[in-house]
Amino acid sequence: MAAKQIHAGLGLLLGLHLTLFAVPAEALTISPLIHYPDPEYNPNPDPEAPWFTVTAGNASVFHGYRTVLSGALTYNHETAVPGVYKIGFRWFQLEGRADSDIALYIDGALRVKVNSQDAPQGKNKDQAWHYAEYVLSAGAHEMKLVGTHHPTSGSGYNAYLHTFEIELVKELSPLQVQAELDAAGKEVKARLDAARSARIAVDNAMAKVSRKSVPAAMREISQDVEAGIVNGFPYLRNKQVVYLWARGKNGGGLLRIRDLISGKALLAVDEAEAASWKVDLKGEGQLSYENAGEPLKVKFDASAGEGKLSFTWALRDVRVEVETRLRSAESLARSRITVRAESEGTGLKTVVFPVVKGILPFTEGAKGDEILQSSSIGKMTGSPLISGMASQVAYPGASMQFTTLMGDGRGFYFAEEDGQANRKHFAWTPDTERGTLTFSISHPVLNWGAKELVREYGSPGDVVMGPFQGDWFDAARIYREWALTAPWSRKGPISEREDFPRWLARLGYWMNAPLKHETEVDLPFMTQDFFDLPDTICKDFGFSMGAYPHHDLNPEYLPPRLGSEGFARVVKKLRAKGIRVVPYVNGYLWNQGTESYRVEDAERRAGLLMESGIVPNTWVGSPDLSAAMCPATDLWRKKLGDLTKELVGKYGVSGVYIDYLSNHNADCFNKEHGHAIAGGNYWSRSVHSLYEHIRRGCKELDPEAMLSGEMAAEWCIDVLDTTHSGGVSSNAPVYFAVYHGYTQVFGGIENCTTPQTLGRWWLMGSPERGEQCDALARRWRGRRDGGLLQESAAL
Ligand SMILES: [Zn+2]
Repeated sequence: MAAKQIHAGLGLLLGLHLTLFAVPAEALTISPLIHYPDPEYNPNPDPEAPWFTVTAGNASVFHGYRTVLSGALTYNHETAVPGVYKIGFRWFQLEGRADSDIALYIDGALRVKVNSQDAPQGKNKDQAWHYAEYVLSAGAHEMKLVGTHHPTSGSGYNAYLHTFEIELVKELSPLQVQAELDAAGKEVKARLDAARSARIAVDNAMAKVSRKSVPAAMREISQDVEAGIVNGFPYLRNKQVVYLWARGKNGGGLLRIRDLISGKALLAVDEAEAASWKVDLKGEGQLSYENAGEPLKVKFDASAGEGKLSFTWALRDVRVEVETRLRSAESLARSRITVRAESEGTGLKTVVFPVVKGILPFTEGAKGDEILQSSSIGKMTGSPLISGMASQVAYPGASMQFTTLMGDGRGFYFAEEDGQANRKHFAWTPDTERGTLTFSISHPVLNWGAKELVREYGSPGDVVMGPFQGDWFDAARIYREWALTAPWSRKGPISEREDFPRWLARLGYWMNAPLKHETEVDLPFMTQDFFDLPDTICKDFGFSMGAYPHHDLNPEYLPPRLGSEGFARVVKKLRAKGIRVVPYVNGYLWNQGTESYRVEDAERRAGLLMESGIVPNTWVGSPDLSAAMCPATDLWRKKLGDLTKELVGKYGVSGVYIDYLSNHNADCFNKEHGHAIAGGNYWSRSVHSLYEHIRRGCKELDPEAMLSGEMAAEWCIDVLDTTHSGGVSSNAPVYFAVYHGYTQVFGGIENCTTPQTLGRWWLMGSPERGEQCDALARRWRGRRDGGLLQESAAL
């Protein structure tokens, strides 16, 4: 028999083509089959080597050759000789570290699941190697590698496939194979029976809670809230919702949520897999812990209309405590986690909490389900169960700290009420085998990159989850209740703020125009006259001397291209006509070709140092390279502070637009800068403080000066008067639904001379997305007329 094989040459590796040819079956018995997706790690590929088919895959190919383990890669293997095979894969990390789950399925059954942070079975030149032995009958078998990337810091850190390998260990007769497979089948059946009886135990516990027949000794009641332990299962309930956790001996993960308003279940997961948290450590020994299977202690209490459960896991290297509360008349559970590194030489790196597995779709096959993500001003996308790809956002970057799954007029709400704006990653990951989703929020802890170990972490605010009725707007109303108490809302609504420029609140028109040549200066005048406009902003993105349109000389923009006197004269003339000039300033990049970069030793003193020891740079916007700056450094703070003061003081501009800073966030690992190394709120705190510094300097010179930034970011609304939305299209402008009255947003196409949109432009409809905008506008007006919106009408 000659098994038909497909040879994957360099063409396949580059995703270009496949060539077919036959390989004699005997070849399979001699040497292992190895699939190298990456030619760099296969210096001597043998074009005649036996091969097996790569039949499908959406694993992306990075830079044309590296196969990212983020997606699925399927092999069809034709087994010529029945026997015991060693099957496995090696992975490697490109730079820094990887954080992915990597699963191997054989004939549809999950055989190996590892996290790239787990200790591998063997190490060779930074490759991790995972394998096990399996019995294969003669014939076709499907093998699938599924990688799910869990970013915990920045956007990198993928695991990459090095090789996929199959090697015959021992030949077996077909009869022996059958006997082995039968034995394995019995084992599977026993496992299924055990799982079924565990599910019955869970159902019985839920029924007891629903019937309110938990013995008095095992529960506490306050108002309509009940906290207790039923048949070993901890639970919380009120009139709206029931939450049930796995038994203390089984890991204490969240098992069931029943929404009593709709009568529907939100969650179904086996007790052995019920999740709560995951902790990644640095140091020696076991570097990753999660709750599943780890025994714990549970206590319950209820008082003043609030039920409470306290979970404690005392493990070898870490002690984890979770407290979950449920109030009367609220469907949302509120939790906090504290984690302490216990053993010497062990520090915390990432705390993932909550982890919720087994989230059920709201609509059949998840076809009508949507995920709301707070990236930019808001976005709804289809369920990851349909795309097969995880939906992930990082905050900061995302504008707010909540997300929901919605469908059929119901929703599952997740938020973190963190007033410190710490770094976190929200991830919805599909489990397509089971048709459920996993949700998690991972927190790279503050200072994890420092030499000294971080020993403790505690939630900075409540982690909130639970069912609600409605859509994205209703979810926004839930978040708004907390958001208006967050530190960045402390100055109150715009209508009551002393430091918010009145003229900006009343602004009628926003134009972009480069004030580079005398001829271009005429454009804002002509626009103003033609439309007979009231107060206007002219965002000037071309006043500097560089060859490129706007930011090639950052931050050395001065003197302006029109000359010091010329520019000041033009600004004054425009202001006299009611047009306020707001020049562009890049808040993140320093041109490496400038004299100041060299003389002031910018790379060392202010460069944002990545974990790999490199200060990143870019060609964007300039014929020279520009380097990224660390917002926490004295040098960069002084640079931007002096520049903006000179613009406002000497040239009379009405404020500045600071590009990049709110959303180009990264961690700086330079230990000489004096800030915490990576994670936590290093970025948001440094940038907020930098904005505050600039704002103070400008306001001293002109109390009416304004500050604007790039991309919506809630944690800046007290220090930025307005922000660029990045674009005008959104199918869920949830940022406005949360922060209306408290901040201003402008939008449109970047750096162009067409008018910019202001505030709630989408209420007016738009030519391209008219229908959608009209529908949103109708709903918004409905809410307002129904008295649900507090408008800043005093403006
Ligand atoms: Zn730094």
